[in-house]
Amino acid sequence: MRKFFAALSLSITGIALPVSAQTDFQADSIFIRKIYDTALGEGKSYEWLRHLTQQVGPRLSGSEGAAKAVVYTKSVMEEEHFDHVFLQNVMVPHWVRGAKEKAQVINGKQKTDVPIAALGGSIATPKGGVKGKVIEVKSFQELRDLGTEKVKGKIVFFNRPMDPTKINTFEAYAGAVEQRAAGASEAAKLGAIGSITRSMTTRLDDFPHTGSMRYASGAPMIPAAAISTNGAELLTKTLKANPETEFYFEQNCETLPDAPSHNVIGELKGKTAPGKYIAVGGHLDSWDFAQGAHDDGSGCVQSIEAVRILKALGYQPNNTLRAVMFMNEENGMKGGVTYADSAKSRKETHIAAIESDHGGFSPRGFGIVGTPEQKAKIQQWTKLFAAYGVHELGPGGGGADIGPLAQQGTVLLGLMPDTQRYFDYHHAANDKFETVSKRELELGAAAMASMLYLIDKYGL
Ligand SMILES: [Zn+2]
Repeated sequence: MRKFFAALSLSITGIALPVSAQTDFQADSIFIRKIYDTALGEGKSYEWLRHLTQQVGPRLSGSEGAAKAVVYTKSVMEEEHFDHVFLQNVMVPHWVRGAKEKAQVINGKQKTDVPIAALGGSIATPKGGVKGKVIEVKSFQELRDLGTEKVKGKIVFFNRPMDPTKINTFEAYAGAVEQRAAGASEAAKLGAIGSITRSMTTRLDDFPHTGSMRYASGAPMIPAAAISTNGAELLTKTLKANPETEFYFEQNCETLPDAPSHNVIGELKGKTAPGKYIAVGGHLDSWDFAQGAHDDGSGCVQSIEAVRILKALGYQPNNTLRAVMFMNEENGMKGGVTYADSAKSRKETHIAAIESDHGGFSPRGFGIVGTPEQKAKIQQWTKLFAAYGVHELGPGGGGADIGPLAQQGTVLLGLMPDTQRYFDYHHAANDKFETVSKRELELGAAAMASMLYLIDKYGL
């Protein structure tokens, strides 16, 4: 009989599964239904997000807000009686914006104010600001072709938009973001005195979108800012009408000495393999003028919620499950690096790590970084997720904070929600609590809890 049953199989999404897996499929689908019931019926993540965004507020690394966020998320996991809640020391870059920036498009006697934001890591302008004629380019090659003669003493305006025809908005972002990250040094190599980059969004509005930039070694350091998309449209139009148009901007940012901060970690201890770990996380820091609701308050509260749900359902994990609030993703990645270094030195084997850092939108799938066998194993669970609108297991990556764990062979998963509106808010002052849907946030937490459960139960 035993042999007979073992030979029987049924086909789920084209993959032949033994009968024993059928039983598990039923048990798993019942348990996952309970996960979703808990997330949607008695979820806690939305109120945690309200507090994190509205009471704690902006939390750039090294700031008072970041310190408050550490205390708050630690207290949440303690109140939920996680088995062990602790802080991990991390030294972080400490960049401050200072007084609000000013910028104007100057067309003869006509001066028009436009919204800009200094890029994270940029230097200030000299007191009184910088003013100069403008060179508009769409690519680094176009800039290089112009050469020192045309660029020297000018302000370079990088105006290549994110490609609106890309369906995956992260692809559009990836296709444009070099202008923000490296534009200043490209311009400075040719003698430019300032760098202005069109905001990384496909929407036309008045919010400048900041983000990190880095100076190349050997290039002079010049001030760098993002301009709102409406501001960029005005500047390009004015330049077409009058190539002698000037741009003026003043910013007061500064890099202070590195500051002490923390990753925040809460655990449910594993019963059979407590020395093996599955981490689920988001990053606790945000940009300084944003509540960081989508980026990445959502990922933080979803991670805590995923672990809480399993605990609330009385699930006793095989491996130790960790919710991790990583510090400093935005401008240094020190939290993710410190976490992986610590895991290595403490010999904490991480089977998998799941990150949510693509916004608190309706979940559609998980990106997976692992071997083909590991991917195939996860893809066998596709049918368990199908009822919840989560269809894509595979395409896309893991996440910036969990990336350093790849060194120890950890399988990396990134929650991939619908990304269409993410860049409306990314790194901008409108990334607020009100823009997150309670339901969508909770669906993401449930998807993460389900994945955590399946990986814990079956291994990878
Ligand atoms: Zn983020």
